[in-house]
This record gives sequence, structure tokens and C-alpha cells, in this order.
Amino acid sequence: MAYNGKNKNSKNNRVSNIPVNKNANKNDYNKVNGGVFVYTGNISVSQLSKELNVPATNIIKFLFLKGKMVTLNQNLDDELIGEICLEYGYDFKKEKVVSEENFEELEIVDDAKHLKERPPIVTIMGHVDHGKTTLIDTIRNSNIVATEAGAITQAIGAYQKEIKGKKITFIDTPGHEAFTQMRSRGASVTDIVIIVVAADDGVMPQTREAIDHAKAAKVPIIIAINKIDKPGADTDRVKQELMTLNIVAEEYGGDTIFCEISAKKNIGIEELLENVLVLAEMQELKANPNRYAMGTVLEAKLDKGEGAKATLLVQNGTLNASDFVVVGAAYGRVRKMTNEYRAELKVAGPSTPVAIIGLTEVPVAGDKFMAFPTEKQAREIAEKRKLAKAQDELNKKTPGTLEDLYNRIHEGEIQEINVIIRADNQGSAEAVKGALQNIQVEGVRINVLRATAGAITETDVLLASTSSAIIFGFNIRPDALIRKKAEEEKVEIRLHTIIYHLTEEVEAAMKGMLKPTYREQVTGQAEIRKVIVASRIGKIGGSMVTNGVIKRDSLCRLLRDGVVIYEGKISSLKRFQNDAKEVAENFECGLTIENFNDIKEGDIVEGYEMVEVKK
Ligand code: GDP
Repeated sequence: MAYNGKNKNSKNNRVSNIPVNKNANKNDYNKVNGGVFVYTGNISVSQLSKELNVPATNIIKFLFLKGKMVTLNQNLDDELIGEICLEYGYDFKKEKVVSEENFEELEIVDDAKHLKERPPIVTIMGHVDHGKTTLIDTIRNSNIVATEAGAITQAIGAYQKEIKGKKITFIDTPGHEAFTQMRSRGASVTDIVIIVVAADDGVMPQTREAIDHAKAAKVPIIIAINKIDKPGADTDRVKQELMTLNIVAEEYGGDTIFCEISAKKNIGIEELLENVLVLAEMQELKANPNRYAMGTVLEAKLDKGEGAKATLLVQNGTLNASDFVVVGAAYGRVRKMTNEYRAELKVAGPSTPVAIIGLTEVPVAGDKFMAFPTEKQAREIAEKRKLAKAQDELNKKTPGTLEDLYNRIHEGEIQEINVIIRADNQGSAEAVKGALQNIQVEGVRINVLRATAGAITETDVLLASTSSAIIFGFNIRPDALIRKKAEEEKVEIRLHTIIYHLTEEVEAAMKGMLKPTYREQVTGQAEIRKVIVASRIGKIGGSMVTNGVIKRDSLCRLLRDGVVIYEGKISSLKRFQNDAKEVAENFECGLTIENFNDIKEGDIVEGYEMVEVKK
């Protein structure tokens, strides 16, 4: 029987997702066992020294000789742990500890008898302008059932459609972004990819990309040949082009479902949806509605009125309004749960996207979430995850190597600006990050430690403090507490509402950070025609400015037969008896050079200035 999303189970019937594992004490694992150092993660030099029974100074020295500088309490990465173990005659093995803190790693295997069919989750991809958005809209608006009619929809990043009594969940962000971003965060939410190909345009670069992404993710594809209403439509050509990419229609002996549609004229849409159901059935998509919900964040933002608002896609289990959820490192009680029509839901079963409010922080799209029966459990797990996350971020700062240091000095000091970005939603956080990373200033690099949605937190300030980072807030204001904390930690918080202003400021800062570089600019040359000896002054060069200008107090060099004899400064410059600030081409002048008296007829005095090179 299909799971219809109307789960009436009270939460007491749901099983918890966290296995009770009394042995999940991490510290038990960092141990030598029969010549093998078995570890689970974060381990510092001093801890490792104890376990391997090797003085810490030996380890530090060993790493130093390899060009790595570490301190006693610094956590080591896997590579270094491995190198150290081998150096001191131990084998090593990293063990994954799956505990409540890293519930992403939990592999939940439901008993087959608890599994129920669930709606397929579909993403629409394809080349730009081939009709993804139009298709999403057409599907969304097609045969809206009575209760939904007239309802104002809210963009929550996904929606469900019912056809023939069965639901389909559509992720409604078109294009690769959503898909690839999710995948890059290790989240896989899609069961089926619809690839839209315009019949009048055929296979284009992004069509190929979309196919590659889907194949890499092992997600089955349905091809929707769109715009068949257009005069230039040539569906056969599209099929043949796709054949060269090993996407073969059933009529040609392949097994890919092809649908010919017009998203704009609403032709073939129902068939397309039916085919999605056919493919879904073949995949036997199932989940267990009788456990606490777990799934992925599709979208998240800070809502002015409602606070942190996130769209969660329930992938397994059932989410009840009033459940406690942990998302990323945030937690909270679901205060309100709505669907894409703003209708309040009490329960959301597998494959249901819901917008929730009640989280203490704005999570990141792609984050996993899990629901818990009690607030205590949710809070404790969130706290642990927050700590682990901060630790991870610190660990990411790899120790500078000697080689690095050497290069820095020799390459005119490469400088790095660490930044933390906080914005009103994940989209603008990414945009700010992208804009900052696009700033090209030689010798300075922007290193974005994190770019997330939501208010600036204490963890941000602490991270900024330990990594000398600047915090940029975009469309957000930190509260008094955070301001105070930042002051204490001497962390700079810069606030902006216009990306352009932000990048301008950063660019200026980046330029300012550099020691200015100067370039020589010749102002002009004068030829010494006559050497006049003055008793008190010494030798004065009676000269003719042959090109450009000669300026008093400017730097100069004296050339004799093309060879630089002296470099110095023009100390006096006169036109007849009067001091001159500068003398132009084809005028005569008398000049002296500071601390240099050996001028001769025929010498050339070249005046030059050092001008700052604008970075
Ligand atoms: P996207 O970039 O893939 O999201 O493409 P859009 O949905 O924005 O569509 C690009 C253009 O193609 C728009 O002008 C649409 O009106 C048009 N279009 C989309 N589907 C069809 C179709 O089935 N027939 C025709 N004639 N035009 C279409």
C-alpha cells in the first residue's frame, strides 16, 4: 500500500534513530592494540605521544624536519598521524565512531516489514532556456485540486503533486546548482532526474553536464523533449544526439524513458508524470514512517518575523509538529510546520518537504537533520555537534610549513585574509563568498572559513578570534551580546547591505595590506654643457634640458657615456639666478647634485621619481 502521508501515529509509536551504544566513548578508541594504533579522530601531539610512548618533543622534531611545525596541543590530521605511527614502528587504523553526534553516518536499516512505499523525489535539470522553469511551473499549476485552488503558494524549494492518487515530490530549484550543491555536501535527495532538452535546440553543454551528474549520482533519468510545439522541433534529432551519449530510447532498443512535451502549451505533462511514477515503482522507493524523522535541509533563511526558517525534506520517518530537531549544529522545537500552500501540517511522512520554524540558528542547505523525542536529547546532541564543528574548522587550518614560510618571504609576502561570512540567507552568503573570492589582488588571498546564513554567533566570534578572521555580516545586525564578545576578543565585524560596497571595502583593505610597490618614472634628461665652479657651492652643471622636465629635489642619476656614474638627488636647480622648482625641455638651467661634485661636460643628468603602483 502506498504511504499516503497521513500518518496518524502518535509520536510514542515511532522508534528513535539513535542506537543505544554504551561503547561509543571515543577515548576508548585512541589506543595501541597489537602494534596497531587505532584512533577515531581528533588527537593531539601530546595525546599521541602518550599512546605511542614516544616523547612529544621527538614527534615535534620529527615533523619539524619534514617541514611541518606543530604545537603540543595541536590536533593532527590523518596524514600526520599515519606518518608518525610509521616512523615509530606502528601500524595505524582509523575507526569511524558512529554516535549521536555524527548522525549523518548512521546507516539505518529498516526491517522490510516496516517499510512503506514513499513518493519519488524528482529534480529537473537541463540546458539554460530549454524550459526547466516553465516545466516546473506547469507541473505545479496543473490540475490543482479543489482544496489547493486559490491558495497562495510559498516558495519553499520543493512541492508535491498528486497524480492518480500518488504523490511526487519535486525539488523546484531548476538547474544544476541545487543538485550539485547538495551532492557536494554529500547529500543525496533525488530519486529521479528529468532532463529537459529543447526539441529545436538539441543536446547542449549543460544537457551533457546534467547527464553526467545524474549518472555519477546513479540516479535514473527521464528525458523530456520540450518545445515540441515549435516549428523547428526535431525530436528524432534529439534522440540521435542522446544516443551518442548512451541515452537510448526504448523505441531504439534502449531503456531510457523519453517523453515529448510542451511545457508552455501543457502538452504531454500528464504522461511525463505517469512515467515518473512508473520509474519510481521500478525503483521500489520505500521508507519507514514509524521512526523519528531524518532528512535533508533544502533551503534555509532568516525570516524577519519568524526567525530561522528551513525547508526540510523528510527522507525517512515521520516529522511531527512539536518534535525536537537537530539540524547541522542547531536545534529547536518545531514551532510550526507548513507545506508549499502555507497549510499547517501536524505530520510529515517520508518524501514530504515542509517549511519549519523554531530552530535556534539558520542551518545550511544540504545539512542533515534528525528529530528527537526530548528537548534534552536534541540540545545535548546539538551542543556536541557545535563543538565538533568548531574543532573541525580549527583543524582545517593546516600548520604552516617551513617551505611555505620561505616562499612567502621570497615572494614578497603572500598574505591571507581569513573571513567569516554571515548573511540573511544561504544564497546571499554564497554570493558574498563568490564575490570576495573573485577579487584579484596580487599577493593577497581571501580565505573564507565559513559562509552561512543567520545571525553572527558566539562560535563565529571565537573562530574569528583564533584564526584572526574578519567577520562580514550581510543584511544582518549582530546583537549587543555578540558586539560585546567581539570587542572582548578584538574581532572586527563589518556590516553591509550591498555586495558591491562590501567587495570595494575588502579590495581597498587588501591593497592597503600590501607594502606599496613603486615603479621608477623618468621625468626628463638634461645635458651638462658647461661646468661652472663656484667657490662655496662646488661644481654647478650649466645644462640644457633635452627632454621632459628636471625637478628640484627629484631623484637623479648621472650618466657618462651611457654608464651610471652616480645616483642621488638634485639639490639645487636655478634658472639664471633664481631658484626653480622645475625646468622644462629646451630651457637652460644650473643644477647641483647632492654630495656629488665630479660632474663633467657631456654628462647626462636623468631625473626620475618613484611612483606608487596602484594594485
Ligand atoms: P530554463 O532556463 O530552462 O528554466 O527555461 P525557461 O523555462 O525559462 O524557458 C525559456 C524560454 O523558452 C521561455 O521563453 C519559455 O517561454 C520558452 N518555452 C519553455 N517551454 C516551451 C515550450 O514548450 N514551447 C515553447 N514554444 N516555448 C517554451
